This record gives sequence, structure tokens and C-alpha cells, in this order.
Amino acid sequence: NPAIHFHNITLKIDNRTIINNVTGSFPEGKITTLVGPSGAGKSTILKLCNRLISQSSGELYIAGQAIEHYNPIDLRRKVGIVLQSAPMIKGTVFDNLNLPRVLQNSSLSTEEAVSILADVGLDDTFLQKDASSLSGGQKQRVSIARTLVNDAQILLLDEITSALDHNAVKEIENLILHINNKHGVTIIWITHNLQQATHVGHYMWVLMDGELIEAGNSNLLLHSK
Ligand code: ADP
Ligand code: ADP
Repeated sequence: NPAIHFHNITLKIDNRTIINNVTGSFPEGKITTLVGPSGAGKSTILKLCNRLISQSSGELYIAGQAIEHYNPIDLRRKVGIVLQSAPMIKGTVFDNLNLPRVLQNSSLSTEEAVSILADVGLDDTFLQKDASSLSGGQKQRVSIARTLVNDAQILLLDEITSALDHNAVKEIENLILHINNKHGVTIIWITHNLQQATHVGHYMWVLMDGELIEAGNSNLLLHSK
């Protein structure tokens, strides 16, 4: 099974067609990039994948199961999302990592927190740091770490490097490649940067005006242009 499969998915809002009859897959364990002009529907595709929005028609499958059959809380644990702005709650890095557990009425141990932080390249001195004092790249690492606390199988990334400087972009790219490699997490990654898309992605969706106009291996798609 693909990690996610769209079958004739259409989304209409106020009679306007935002997503138009999209059929396609995100292969399991691979990195798929979503490219296309602003307004093409990329963010909307991500929101459909964790049910922040529901399609008007068509079937959407997560790991072979219709998305409606998931409990919404389980779905959002399984399908993590990371945004460009890397929003943090007030408090320490530990508080931010612990957030998913608090929502489940439990708590992360210090050992687990240290191990997850190490996975995203931050040492244990970060645990008690104020989250608001972090750099953009460090906040992005903590956002990614939060999805690891939930043991997410699928990661949705919405322009996560567009606000970062060149070095931080490279570091975050490498971190996502590591999470994909080490944990086998399926990645769906919106990027404006075609160079980034070919560097990090195995597979690519090209969207335009709410339609999926091409899907396939990143190298093949770009060489055919
Ligand atoms: P992209 O991420 O490719 O820039 P979006 O998915 O954000 O595109 O938006 C696709 C289109 O849908 C845009 O024209 C946008 O204005 C419209 N859109 C997105 N969300 C909504 C909404 N909640 N209500 C109405 N229109 C929306
Ligand atoms: P981005 O370009 O980062 O995708 P947008 O500015 O397009 O962000 O959208 C910001 C938010 O507003 C999103 O949640 C989107 O769904 C919503 N939105 C976008 N366009 C419209 C619209 N025409 N009507 C209502 N909501 C919209």
C-alpha cells in the first residue's frame, strides 16, 4: 500500500473548486515533494491528509484505510505536520516536547526527551532553555522532535525552510533525510525551491490550479522538461 492514496478527490469551498479530481499516491517510506505556483493547492493537499479539511468527494486512504475510519486524535498522531512558522508554546523546550503527552494525560521522561532531542541534533542543555530564545532553525528542530514524540509515521512539511538562512536550510534538509532513513517515516514536503525538491525528494507531485498535472520520480520529471 502507498502511505496515502487520493482517489478522485475534489474539494469545493463556496462553489469554488479548490482541488479538482486528484488521483495519485504518496509512496510509503519515500520523500515526495509538492511543487507548483502559489495558490495551486499544495497546502490544501496537506490539510486533506490529516483531516484539517475534508474532501467534498472522492476517497482518501491512509495506509490502506479510508481516512474517515480513523479516530481524529489517532490520525493526527500518525500524520504529523510541521509549519513554516514553527509555533512554540510558552515555556521550555521540554514543555514543547511534552505537549503531545500532556494532551494524552501523561508525561515524557527526561531520558526520552534527551534521546529525541539527540535525534534532531540538539544536546541535553536545550531541555530547560526557553523556547522563545531559540533560533529559527532550532525551533524547526523542536517542531520536528514533537512529531517524533508522537511516533508519527507520516510527516507533512509546509515550507519548513523558507524562513531560514542557507546553513540552517542545509541542516534541516539533512535532518529530514535522517528521519526518513532511520525511522522510515514517509515525508510529504511542500517547497517553492525546485533545486531543493530534486535534492531531497524521491518522488514529486506537480500541482496547478487545483489539479495534479504530473507525478513521478523527481529526476525523470525534471529531465523531461
Ligand atoms: P498553495 O499552498 O499551493 O499556495 P493553497 O492550498 O493555500 O495553495 O490554496 C489553493 C487555493 O485555495 C487558493 O486560491 C486559496 O486562496 C484557496 N483557499 C485555500 N483555503 C481556502 C479556504 N479555507 N477558503 C477558501 N479558499 C481557500
Ligand atoms: P499559504 O500561502 O502559506 O498557504 P495563505 O495566505 O494562502 O497561506 O492562507 C492562509 C490561511 O488562510 C490558510 O489556512 C488558508 O486555508 C486560508 N485561506 C487562503 N485563502 C483563503 C480564502 N480565499 N478564503 C478563506 N480562507 C483562505
